[in-house]
Amino acid sequence: MPLFKSIIEVVSSTLAFALLSYTGVASARFLQSDPIGLQGGLNTYSYALNNSLYWVDPLGLDTWPANSGTVTSVFGPRPNPLNPTQQQNHRGIDIRNPSNQPVYNPRDGVVTNISPTSTGANRIKVVYPDGVMCEFLHTAPSVGLHNKVSEGQVLGMSDGSGNVTGPHLHMECRRCPACPKEDPRDVLGIKPLSCKP
Ligand SMILES: [Zn+2]
Repeated sequence: MPLFKSIIEVVSSTLAFALLSYTGVASARFLQSDPIGLQGGLNTYSYALNNSLYWVDPLGLDTWPANSGTVTSVFGPRPNPLNPTQQQNHRGIDIRNPSNQPVYNPRDGVVTNISPTSTGANRIKVVYPDGVMCEFLHTAPSVGLHNKVSEGQVLGMSDGSGNVTGPHLHMECRRCPACPKEDPRDVLGIKPLSCKP
């Protein structure tokens, strides 16, 4: 089975993005990004969707994002933890992550947002070469905007920021910029079995 790999290069001087995909031998393509790609919501990644050479993970070895494998709240409708008489749509999953515990990046990507949410939760958003994008909340960032981040790299530390009943990792993912949020375990194909020791 051929193994493909891809690197995202961040051209920090111009804030333009480029995708470089290669097979590990000689075949390579260089994809120039849209110069307003950042303001345009990273449409640059749509180029990758048509590229048969971009990185895939056929073995499903993406890294689980926390030391704990425990999912404390699943995706979908639930009572609001802060007001249990109200229903809310939980657009991600919650993973046990005590204060000051790391959040690991599940696969190679680029940081596209590190701003807090409207409710004060520290947030790190990462986009991946196939167009998948994930957000990691209640986590103080230890990476910078536009940083290239590798699989397993620490994105930040759990800080209990925002409206929470206690420190944890809230993670939400979508398969493309216009796609609906789905259970991150389905989007990434990751399971707690691959969590760090
Ligand atoms: Zn949550």
